[in-house]
Amino acid sequence: MRERKVRFGVSIPQKLTEKLNRIAEAMQLDRSRIVSEAISDYVRSHDHYIVEHECRGVLIVVDASKHIDLLATLSNYSDIVRFYNHANLGDVCVDMILVAGKSSKITQLHKILEKTYKLTVRYVPIACKTT
Ligand SMILES: [Zn+2]
Ligand SMILES: [Zn+2]
Repeated sequence: MRERKVRFGVSIPQKLTEKLNRIAEAMQLDRSRIVSEAISDYVRSHDHYIVEHECRGVLIVVDASKHIDLLATLSNYSDIVRFYNHANLGDVCVDMILVAGKSSKITQLHKILEKTYKLTVRYVPIACKTT
């Protein structure tokens, strides 16, 4: 069965559009198909923010040598935090937090870390069962 398609307007930076056009030409694909595939990849990798499930993954926090001590915050999440380490890589600090548990709780920790320390936190899901 053919899925119904919807048109919607989006604004994309010019350089990105130029690259998209070049890829479409090289791959001989139409742009709608490429954009649709890119969005579906994005949705799949972010599914776990909206669908409750048991999740395992790593939260990665990078800062510029602030040596931030996350222990106080992490102690409130001891039920999902399985491993924590802080490494100094020259002029950057990297915190690795291995988590396992309910996805909503992981999302909550993710948001609190970003808000409290004003740092970008990346979450890399390792074993995710959203479907
Ligand atoms: Zn450090
Ligand atoms: Zn997940």
